[in-house]
Amino acid sequence: MDDLKDIHRRPWIDPQKTNVRSFVEEWKQKTELASDLEMTSKKLKKEASNKLNMSQDEVDKLEEHLKIDNLTDVMDKDWSSYVVGNYFQCPQNLSLKCVEAQLEHSSRCETDSRYRIALERSLRYRNDKFMINMTSKRKSRYNEECLDIMETMLVVQIFCPHHSSHYEGEGKKHRATLLPDQELLCYGSQSLTALRDMIICKMDVNIPGDCGDDPNNFDRPIGSEIYSSSFFFIDNCFYNDMRKITNMDYSEVIRSWASRTDRGIGILRHAKMEECCFDDLNFRLGQPYLYVHQGDCEHMVIFTDVRLFSPQGDCPLKATYPLLLKTRHRVSTSCFMCKLKTAKWMVFGNDRLPDEPFLFCQDCMMQFNYTKEGEKIGQFSAYSFLDESALL
Ligand SMILES: [Zn+2]
Ligand SMILES: [Zn+2]
Repeated sequence: MDDLKDIHRRPWIDPQKTNVRSFVEEWKQKTELASDLEMTSKKLKKEASNKLNMSQDEVDKLEEHLKIDNLTDVMDKDWSSYVVGNYFQCPQNLSLKCVEAQLEHSSRCETDSRYRIALERSLRYRNDKFMINMTSKRKSRYNEECLDIMETMLVVQIFCPHHSSHYEGEGKKHRATLLPDQELLCYGSQSLTALRDMIICKMDVNIPGDCGDDPNNFDRPIGSEIYSSSFFFIDNCFYNDMRKITNMDYSEVIRSWASRTDRGIGILRHAKMEECCFDDLNFRLGQPYLYVHQGDCEHMVIFTDVRLFSPQGDCPLKATYPLLLKTRHRVSTSCFMCKLKTAKWMVFGNDRLPDEPFLFCQDCMMQFNYTKEGEKIGQFSAYSFLDESALL
């Protein structure tokens, strides 16, 4: 299978496979640093004394001197009022030029939309929306089990769907698909289903099927309630979500197709997603893997980083993970008719319209396609359209 993908000619893919569990075990054996990770206060003081070339008494005095209660400056005492979540607010009463420039920049960002847009366009990662505030909220909400000091942390990118049955013909060609949509941080002993439940796709929350005959009936089941089957395809193994008794093994038909020897694909394994955790996986950093749900909605999945849990930077509470690190800036799609409101309906097969699919907001949909009595004008099919900007 790797030969078919020709991964050795792609320099951004790690040529070596990583097994998360053995990665940590190997690291523990090769280095003595592992025991030093469990830093106690005593160990830290000893380390500081060696690095700073100071006696233990001097380190004790230094620690006493650096305590936060010893801050005496007026600004220092009020420091907490300038920290909101993880953001730092500039104090108003300072005469420093850099603070003045920062204040001017902040106020222009709020009041001058042209300035803000020009700034956003100049940023390298302008498509990314960092979820910093969300991290702090989730930290305070939960009080549960903590992560082990030797836990591994994985950064996973979920891409925009490669194929969606809502887009056909010309519209499908113009879909941007090679964009990371979500970046999540998971821990090694976490089940794959935890990641699956955090993946946000509008196909899961949309109402499937033609709603043209009764557009005012919003009491219909959403996609994830009807079609809850899904799988990850990682290292020649299909991890199927079989938590619900009604779930299907989507991989069965693919495995039987691939089993013919003349295709040269080899044996593809399968396992239950809920019984596997990230520690069990073998994967290459940078290699695209696959997540499929709703029948044919395919997302690329890429592991971009594997590292140890960092007590200084990572939230220790297990319930915080998978933690959403960033999402893509999602731009809303306007109604094709009024160009003002956000689109809510997608219409196919209406010969009174110049384009297909044609997107309508609720008002334009009802005024153009239905009589005052609610009768359908002509023949068409209408599908609910959930705008991606409505997702998190
Ligand atoms: Zn999807
Ligand atoms: Zn409209």
